[in-house]
Amino acid sequence: MKVLKFGGTSVGSPQRMQEVSRLVTADGKAKLVVLSAMSGTTNTLVEISDYLYKKNPEGANTLINRLEQKYLQHIQELYKTEEYKQQTEIFIRDEFNYLRSFTKVHFTSFEEKVILAQGEIISTNMVTNYLKECGVKALLLNALDIIRTDKNAEPDFLYIKEKSNAVLKENDGYEIYITQGFICRNAYGEIDNLLRGGSDYTACLIGAAIQAEEIQIWTDIDGMHNNDPRIVENTEPVRQLHFEEAAELAYFGAKILHPTCIQPAKFAGVPVRLLNTMAPEAPGTIINNEFQKGKIKAVAARDNNICIQITSSRMLLAYGFLRKVFEIFEAYKTSVDMICTSEVGVSVTIDNSSHLADILDNLKKYGTVSVDENMTIVCVVGDLDSNNVGFETIACEALKDIPVRMISYGGSNHNISFLVKTEDKKRTLQALSNTLFNS
Ligand code: ASP
Ligand code: MG
Repeated sequence: MKVLKFGGTSVGSPQRMQEVSRLVTADGKAKLVVLSAMSGTTNTLVEISDYLYKKNPEGANTLINRLEQKYLQHIQELYKTEEYKQQTEIFIRDEFNYLRSFTKVHFTSFEEKVILAQGEIISTNMVTNYLKECGVKALLLNALDIIRTDKNAEPDFLYIKEKSNAVLKENDGYEIYITQGFICRNAYGEIDNLLRGGSDYTACLIGAAIQAEEIQIWTDIDGMHNNDPRIVENTEPVRQLHFEEAAELAYFGAKILHPTCIQPAKFAGVPVRLLNTMAPEAPGTIINNEFQKGKIKAVAARDNNICIQITSSRMLLAYGFLRKVFEIFEAYKTSVDMICTSEVGVSVTIDNSSHLADILDNLKKYGTVSVDENMTIVCVVGDLDSNNVGFETIACEALKDIPVRMISYGGSNHNISFLVKTEDKKRTLQALSNTLFNS
């Protein structure tokens, strides 16, 4: 069985929901379909929660009423028959009354999680009802019974594996199984979620758990591009990526895929295919366990990095210096992304500035500290195995006119990263595209 995930834009209107339904039923094969909330809904639910945190129930109610009207309108357009219009209207009205009930309670992050979960609950009910109206044997599975996180807020994979296989076994014989992306229960049984954009993660977890034939992530762009199409001209979709390459790209800024979601698919060896709802025939990008020897695949960039340099003559020929430095970052739960060292100093980047002042204060015990803000990490991803010579030369040559603050190479076999000023990002990306892909 294949697992297909459709994001918010792919189910963003009644027409798109109908399109998705056609897509998943076209070949008549059984599928498990994971859906996001309709685009914009989760953001509105976050806003509603903000009003409730700020003890402004009127503000929340205005948004709830507005969103309810939108959904009531969607229902009229989605269904043909009175029966399904009415049935779904009752469901929607219940849902929004439920949301309104939170305007009267003491509001905490527990309530917020419950509110955030309703977007996916609504979209999956709407699509399941639509499929049924079309005569498809569809079954809605409750993700809250399948996806659970552990005490570290990480997916509890054994639980997910057991539950997803059991629920499919108990409900054999359906054509389309629908479930919610993003939402889950935590180790204490409370409603929770896999963080924003987490529907990809749901799909990959379930796909890995049931050893799916393939996991398909349907979005509104034709696969992963070799550079950021919003910034650079002449980007092209990359047809194939290794799991490691995809993970680096997702982490370093390619918006198409949630960074954490690759891991379960990789461990289970289930290929992930990125496809475009607006052009379903396009080949998209396949992510699997294959390397294309020596090939540079793509470039991605991530902003909002802070570069911290610590220099000290005490580092010279001393041991334990780096440990002391890194303990400071650990103490403030701040993860370090790029690292470069020399015999008398070390530069690191962080993207979480919430404890910056404390970190700098502590670092000053060990050396002279300088800080550069508004930095961008640009990473070049591909099969950079050290037996293949020359790619670092090509990448560096491309950047010959750009001031580079740090270069990190050799940490993995799939990535060479450059730290540049954010103001130089566009020309850095364009220069890399011109040299690596367009020449
Ligand atoms: N609806 C959630 C969000 O907007 C999850 C997702 O779409 O992946 O973040
Ligand atoms: Mg998404």
